[in-house]
Amino acid sequence: MTWDAEAKMRFLFALRSKGLTDQRVLTAMERIDRADFVTGLFADRAYEDMPLPIACGQTISQPSVVGLMTQALDVQPRHKVLEIGTGSGYQAAILSQLARRVYTVDRYKRLVTEARALFERLNMTNITAVTTDGSHGLPDQAPFDRIIVTAAPEDPPGPLLAQLKPGGIMVLPVGQSDAVQSLIRVRRLEDGGFDYTELLPVRFVPLLEGLGKE
Ligand code: SAH
Repeated sequence: MTWDAEAKMRFLFALRSKGLTDQRVLTAMERIDRADFVTGLFADRAYEDMPLPIACGQTISQPSVVGLMTQALDVQPRHKVLEIGTGSGYQAAILSQLARRVYTVDRYKRLVTEARALFERLNMTNITAVTTDGSHGLPDQAPFDRIIVTAAPEDPPGPLLAQLKPGGIMVLPVGQSDAVQSLIRVRRLEDGGFDYTELLPVRFVPLLEGLGKE
C-alpha cells in the first residue's frame, strides 16, 4: 500500500467516524505516512485503525486514539510539548506538525535511537528524543504547555503535574495495566489547582519505572 490519495481518504474517513473533527489534527495526520513508523511483519496494515506491534514488545497506538488524544491536547503553534512514550515516533511526528518544539522520551534506548533516525530522515527538526524514565518528566526542559503520556500510570505522576505550565493541559491514560483504562485530560488552572475530565476508555501498555534493557 502506498500513501496515495485513496489511502489518505480512507484513513481520514476512519478518523472522522471515530469523532475526530479538528481540521488541524486531520491535516497533520494526512501529512504523516504511518507506514514510515511500522516496519516488518505488520507494515502492510499500517493504514488500518488498530494498534500494531513494534520493537521492544511495545505497540504503536491506534490512529484514531492518536488523533483523539492530539485533539484533546489542543496544541497551538507556539507550544512546547512533552511526550512520554516515544515508541515508534508516530505520535511525536504528528505533534511536530502542530507545535513549536516537541520533546519525546522513552525508557528504551533502541526505540529512541530508531525514532531519532526517522525524524532526521523525514526532516522533522523540531523534535528532540531522549532516553529516560518519563515518570520523572524532563526537568531540564520544564515547564511545558502540553504533556501527553502514551503509557498508563495508575494515577497522574506528580512530577508531570508539576512540570505543566499554569493553563497547561496534559492528556494521559490512567488505570491498572491489565484492565480497561480511562483517557483523561488534566488542566492546570491559573491558581495552581487541577481540573480533571474523563474522555474515553482506552488500553495502553503500562508506564514502567526505570530504563528498559534494549
Ligand atoms: N507514542 C507511541 C506509542 C507508545 S507505546 C507511538 O506513537 O508509537 C508506549 C511507550 O511508552 C513504549 O515505547 C514504552 O517503552 C514507553 N514507556 C513506558 N513506561 C515509560 C517510562 N516510565 N518512561 C518513558 N517511556 C515509557
